[in-house]
Amino acid sequence: MRLPFDNTYARLPEKFYAALPPSPVAAPGPVAVNQALAARLGLDLDALQSAEGTAMFAGNLVPEGATPIAQAYAGHQFGGFVPQLGDGRAILLGELVAPDGARFDLTLKGAGRTPFSRGGDGRAWLGPVLREYVLSEAMAALGLPTTRALAAVTTGQNVFRDGFPRPGAVIARVAASHIRVGTFEYFAARGDEEALATLCHYTLSRHFPDGKTARDLLAAVTQAQAKLVAGWMSFGFIHGVMNTDNCALSGETIDYGPCAFVDEYHPKKVFSSIDVRGRYAYANQPQIALWNLAQLGSCLLPLMGKGDAAVEQAQAVLDDFAPVYQAEWLARMGRKIGLASATQDDLPLIESLLNRMATEVADFTRTFRGLSTGTAREEFTEPQAFDTWEPDWRARLEREADPAAVMAAANPVRIPRNHRVEDMIAAAVEGDFAPFHRLNAALAAPFTPDDSFADLEAAPSHDERVTRTFC
Ligand code: AMP
Ligand code: MG
Ligand code: MG
Repeated sequence: MRLPFDNTYARLPEKFYAALPPSPVAAPGPVAVNQALAARLGLDLDALQSAEGTAMFAGNLVPEGATPIAQAYAGHQFGGFVPQLGDGRAILLGELVAPDGARFDLTLKGAGRTPFSRGGDGRAWLGPVLREYVLSEAMAALGLPTTRALAAVTTGQNVFRDGFPRPGAVIARVAASHIRVGTFEYFAARGDEEALATLCHYTLSRHFPDGKTARDLLAAVTQAQAKLVAGWMSFGFIHGVMNTDNCALSGETIDYGPCAFVDEYHPKKVFSSIDVRGRYAYANQPQIALWNLAQLGSCLLPLMGKGDAAVEQAQAVLDDFAPVYQAEWLARMGRKIGLASATQDDLPLIESLLNRMATEVADFTRTFRGLSTGTAREEFTEPQAFDTWEPDWRARLEREADPAAVMAAANPVRIPRNHRVEDMIAAAVEGDFAPFHRLNAALAAPFTPDDSFADLEAAPSHDERVTRTFC
């Protein structure tokens, strides 16, 4: 097996990573290879689907040209700093260079212990692997920057979670890179300015080639994160673990753990079982992203000239987060109610709808989609709450050329609903992967109505509702 690798990260100084191969597993079994992504990367689908391909994705066969490493990083977890985390169960095989020259990390998650594993087993089980596969691909289909799933395989070995044996699995993840805020924190915590400068230069040349300075890097990442989180908000997505080690400099959504798309809307929604204080609740996400960027800014200060001038420079860059976020949020939320280019004057209309949705436990996705199909009011426990909003909205729409088309392109029909994801995992554990494949097919075209997927478009009944997610 030979892949088009060119591994620049492994050519960085040795302190950036630990070099080691994935740990082989007992009995690799194929689950899925992502055909569309393989084509994007210019990879040979037949090879990926062969027994050799399955062995490679399981970590049993290291492809030619790979230089497997576990990356070093630190991170703030729920606000507390941990000076060393690192890839404890992921191995970066190398960087794939697509036919158009674009560069992507290819990583195996669940590939065994590394020097960064600390207590963990270095493995993943099928549930979270399929969850990440489905949710990251859904995110890509919604048009937001995200890591993607190239393949999933089973290992033929059990993994113990909460005292129960679970089927082990590996996900092959593709990302613009895995450089995180935590990667900078790792070197900043060690006072290693030389490594920080190397990492800054590397990240600029890989993601923001127009940039030259640490200030440019902070500015570019601030823009990317502000836009990303505004996109999440517009689809009702809650990341769940926005620790600085899960905040990618590329601006991609990374590390799909106990994340979720909301069913009924509420700004305080939290799904993650480990987020007991609601630090990463839906409405907190923009502030948390900015907090994470402030950590990045702190790391970069030594490269910005130190002293008060550096702090002022960094602060000025971070001050751009709010306007960029607000503009992107307004544009996206405006389109969701049919406004091709919303202005500040439209803010009360959007906020009034969201407030009513929260009070009347309206389903986020169905309410917005229902605006163009006339069913939105049915989502409110008291439809009057919608009826008293509707006239102002209709009046505003008179100034729009084609609001129905704008809404249809902004409001998905289908999202990966938690209860369907859980059903899919339960079936897969029993050996039935049909719901997994069907879910992927349904979510690949999330804006296109399809009666055959009606069950996936429905909101959960009270009994079906999933209120907690686990990683
Ligand atoms: P996460 O919460 O997924 O961002 O992971 C936080 C840290 O825990 C990272 O350094 C992971 O590599 C590590 N980690 C998570 N699960 C495992 C595991 N099963 N074995 C070893 N390390 C793990
Ligand atoms: Mg992580
Ligand atoms: Mg994780």
